[in-house]
Amino acid sequence: MSENQQEICPVCQVKIVGGDKVLFSSGPPGTRAKLWARVCQYVQKQGCINQEPDAVGNVEPEDYYNPDIS
Ligand SMILES: [Zn+2]
Repeated sequence: MSENQQEICPVCQVKIVGGDKVLFSSGPPGTRAKLWARVCQYVQKQGCINQEPDAVGNVEPEDYYNPDIS
């Protein structure tokens, strides 16, 4: 897998580079788990590329949106 590989989720419009680095429209880069916790779990449309549990990985409590610490 190339470091320069880029995927854009056609549903969430979020860019994933190098396989597991997610560039959010605002804020620091995160992981696929963070993307899933904050965006993809709410997606009801077909085509989201971040719905595979094996790819998403372990979602930690801090991956969820928390206005107190963000
Ligand atoms: Zn998505």
